[in-house]
Amino acid sequence: MDTILNYIAGKFVPSSSDHFIPNINPARGEAYSRIPDSNADDVNLAVEAASMALPIWSKMPLEERAGYLDKIADGIEARLEEFCRAECVDTGKPLQLTEQVDIPRSIQNFRFFASAIRQFSSESHLDASSLNYTRRDPVGVVGLISPWNLPLYLLSWKIAPALAAGNTVVAKPSEVTPMTAFMLCKVMEEIGLPQGVFNLVHGSGPSTGEALVGHPRVKAISFTGGTSTGKRIASVAAPQLKKLSLELGGKNAGVIFADADYDKALARTVRSAFTNQGQICLCTSRLLIEESLYPKFRDDFVSRVRTLKVGDPLNRQTDQGAVVSEAHFNKVLSYIELAKSEGGKILTGGKPAKAESGWFIEPTVIEGLPMESRANQEEIFGPVVTLMPFKSEIEALRLANSSIYGLASVVWTSDLNKAHRMAERLEAGIIWINTWMKRDLRTPFGGMKASGMGREGGLEALRFFTEPKNVCIEF
Ligand code: NDP
Repeated sequence: MDTILNYIAGKFVPSSSDHFIPNINPARGEAYSRIPDSNADDVNLAVEAASMALPIWSKMPLEERAGYLDKIADGIEARLEEFCRAECVDTGKPLQLTEQVDIPRSIQNFRFFASAIRQFSSESHLDASSLNYTRRDPVGVVGLISPWNLPLYLLSWKIAPALAAGNTVVAKPSEVTPMTAFMLCKVMEEIGLPQGVFNLVHGSGPSTGEALVGHPRVKAISFTGGTSTGKRIASVAAPQLKKLSLELGGKNAGVIFADADYDKALARTVRSAFTNQGQICLCTSRLLIEESLYPKFRDDFVSRVRTLKVGDPLNRQTDQGAVVSEAHFNKVLSYIELAKSEGGKILTGGKPAKAESGWFIEPTVIEGLPMESRANQEEIFGPVVTLMPFKSEIEALRLANSSIYGLASVVWTSDLNKAHRMAERLEAGIIWINTWMKRDLRTPFGGMKASGMGREGGLEALRFFTEPKNVCIEF
């Protein structure tokens, strides 16, 4: 069985407790590697290493620092196949998804921020008697915490801007999907990243993660994960007045108007509902369909969903792999039972998929649930969507906004004015019109309401990972 190790001060080390946590392959339901069960002492060592490396890294000429990010991208690319396969095995998601999305996008994240920091500039303001200019200095040692659904993709989305801006890093990936983060450390070692600039500690959220959040020398926390964990992290970080970026849960609406490009809306909505078994914070889990279109769209949607192939994630024909863990499998199934008890009618799916082992769930479509039902309000984060008809634009808006969350919304219409009106009134940080998951790395990314605080991406990320200091000089 492979042993994953922490990466501290440029060395691979076990936890000081010498305890390990099993790492499970969700498609097999069995352990295939183990990770260190790190504690506050390990976090302390990592923060110390990051503090030691800070003066050199933060003062390194920009071109040299950006060059390291390019080398990290090249290093992942050189092992592309290995990374794609490892992400597939560790998460249970289809290999084709890791090849098309997870790993290429992780590489792009490093390339993008290597380039963005070369273009990054700060403001200056001039009047008759004075000049103000704003320095953008690194924050210091920063803590990065990521979830299990897009392991390397979301972690690299934080590491790249943090390092580019001159910070040193202590990162903690999810204990459920640690493998590609471990492999990334090997890339860091291979390219000769100065020791201590990047450190990674594995372990559970409440022990390892919380020790990182609470560490007094960690100046900023960038977190992606569930809303309740985000609240807990805020309660630990806020009394120390740390900078905090929280990317949290979602319950996203997909709104399909009768005037939409039907074929495109149908095909993409199947993707937006079920990509990665519905385990993407941006997935549309509540589909609102204009009443005149509802019966046809529902029937065609259900027929398409029935053609999705559930099975071995390593098989390139597979559309739907396993969900990430046994605990999550049970959680998703319990929500399907809840939906039934709340009056929902299962149109397809609704039970575990046939498999020799592992945690597979049939893609599930439910109708007939009121918007206030728990199944329509709480984040299920699995291959489960609900369908609901609406009569008017106003009603579509009311239903879409009837959620504590506000991460993403998708609108399908060919009426440009309607699209703009919806975009203005939908309560979400990301609005897609006639598309889904299209990304431009320069744009702000994140949610409102219970979906988070702050934005990642482009300049927003570089601003988060720098401390603005204004200097005023009188002539
Ligand atoms: P969790 O909130 O359970 O965990 C996220 C990370 O936080 C993990 O590394 C976890 O460690 C760690 N953690 C848990 N408790 C603490 C703590 N007390 N202090 C510090 N760290 C802690 O989320 P999941 O991993 O279950 O991911 C799914 C969630 O992430 C969904 O709600 C989804 O919507 C959200 N998400 C949001 C995105 C966005 O951009 N808004 C993008 C992707 C996902 P461990 O795993 O070891 O417990």
